Amino acid sequence: MTKKFDIIAIGGGSGGIATMNRAGEHGAKAAVIEGKLVGGTCVNVGCVPKKIMWHGAQMAESLLHYGPEYGFTAKEVSFDFATLRKNREAYIERSRNSYNGSFQRNQVELIEGYAKFVDTHTVEVNGELITAEHIVIATGAKPTIPDIPGKDLGIVSDDVFEWENLPTSVAVLGAGYIAVEMAGVLHNLGVKTSLFYRRERPLRSFEPYIIEALLEEMHRTGLQHQGHKIPKRLDKLDNGLIQITFEDGEIHTAEQVLWAVGRQPNLDGLNLEVTGVKLNNRGYIAVDEYQQTNVPGIYALGDVTGKIELTPVAIKTGRLLSERLFNGKEKAKMDFSLVPTVIFSHPAIGTVGLTEPEAIEKYGADQIKVYTSAFTSMYTALGSNRQMSKFKLITAGPEEKVIGLHGFGFGVDEMIQGFAVAMKMGATKADFDSVVAIHPTGSEEFVTMR
Ligand code: FAD
Ligand code: NDP
Repeated sequence: MTKKFDIIAIGGGSGGIATMNRAGEHGAKAAVIEGKLVGGTCVNVGCVPKKIMWHGAQMAESLLHYGPEYGFTAKEVSFDFATLRKNREAYIERSRNSYNGSFQRNQVELIEGYAKFVDTHTVEVNGELITAEHIVIATGAKPTIPDIPGKDLGIVSDDVFEWENLPTSVAVLGAGYIAVEMAGVLHNLGVKTSLFYRRERPLRSFEPYIIEALLEEMHRTGLQHQGHKIPKRLDKLDNGLIQITFEDGEIHTAEQVLWAVGRQPNLDGLNLEVTGVKLNNRGYIAVDEYQQTNVPGIYALGDVTGKIELTPVAIKTGRLLSERLFNGKEKAKMDFSLVPTVIFSHPAIGTVGLTEPEAIEKYGADQIKVYTSAFTSMYTALGSNRQMSKFKLITAGPEEKVIGLHGFGFGVDEMIQGFAVAMKMGATKADFDSVVAIHPTGSEEFVTMR
């Protein structure tokens, strides 16, 4: 017997769940189809376990470096990774279970299994046929591994969350969010960590002023990092270590090698060919501004479309799609501009809007004005472990509209959200300056820059 729905999501990650819950809220008969674990990447092998590890790493930093400067001494600070792992996994399980409540409230059915297209309105899951007027592809992304000899000796970020023990040494290969975040966490948890990237610096699309500060901080804290390192091959040595040979002939050995060179759309086993859904030139599912593919009734959103691969983006896009399909909001669509984002490095990077190079390209150098601020975070200022904070504002035009805001420093991760609201509202430098500073904080820099 064929099951019938108004709308189904293939993929029970951030995007699929949010789309179906909102559809259900508006009375649509909706189902989420998930092949692995409800919650998808973010909850199970992404944002959530990563952030818990990041908090652990921040705690290590406080206990080992800053506590003593405040007069706190512990005879011995020991770290039991098994406890962190156990509590992290229990937290994730609670998060996963919490989806049951929203599914029940919105009468969304959860179907466990992998979906495969049979035709443009039908999928097959565990041998059962399911049809729907609307089908949302929200199958996410998967890590990319470069095709070099020995590539399979390396692991990917999913595998890090499987570790029962921490390795003694890790070489991280890559230059994006995951490479920088993983390297920082592992380094702070006591793993001998090296970060290798193929160009002159990591996070090349981010504000250079901020990334230079990150590299200086990595240097100060002994996180080994090297640019212009292109991996050529991986080999397992007799002592169990993995040897990386770079294109320049240099070698490096580590117990684990982590590939963090980007992600690609997850289309495995979908049988997309039978639908005629087109991909874009990067291999992601091509959609218009309403998440519509070239095939009527089939939509795609989230990482599988390759447009700003962040959980809140997938969630918002999905909710707007359901508002459009089931709540009469015909023009509802995602606005991909001024999306704030944080890189959970040590300390964190927060950013919204254009970098200086992007602003120059868009407006011309004579049309923009740049403000910067660099100071030692007070939290770290009592002893010798001083950590720099660096902030930058970029404005455009004579009215000095704020078009870029970038921060690196203690607490920046919790600082950016509100500024993004102001920027979405079109705030100018004068608006920023009209606000009384909160003293003493880091965020006051953004309203006192001259
Ligand atoms: P996903 O969450 O990946 O969900 C896709 C789901 O589809 C998966 O559960 C998969 O099993 C399922 N699926 C695939 N094919 C099928 C099929 N044929 N049938 C049924 N099910 C299928 N973003 C942030 O905003 N903040 C962060 O701090 C952050 N940290 C991250 C850290 C890491 C290590 C990683 C890898 C990502 C991180 N992200 C973060 C990105 C974020 O996880 C993604 O942007 C988000 O999960 C995308 O949601 P999605 O719904 O598009 O896909
Ligand atoms: P990213 O796209 O962030 O970065 C990957 C980088 O790796 C590229 O930009 C490139 O940099 C480098 N690279 C690409 N190919 C190779 C290669 N063959 N060899 C060496 N280096 C290579 O990918 P991630 O996997 O880190 O993250 C995927 C996405 O997930 C992010 O873009 C982000 O949207 C999301 N995410 C968000 C987080 C958050 O919100 N805090 C955390 C983690 C992920 P270059 O060209 O400079 O060499």
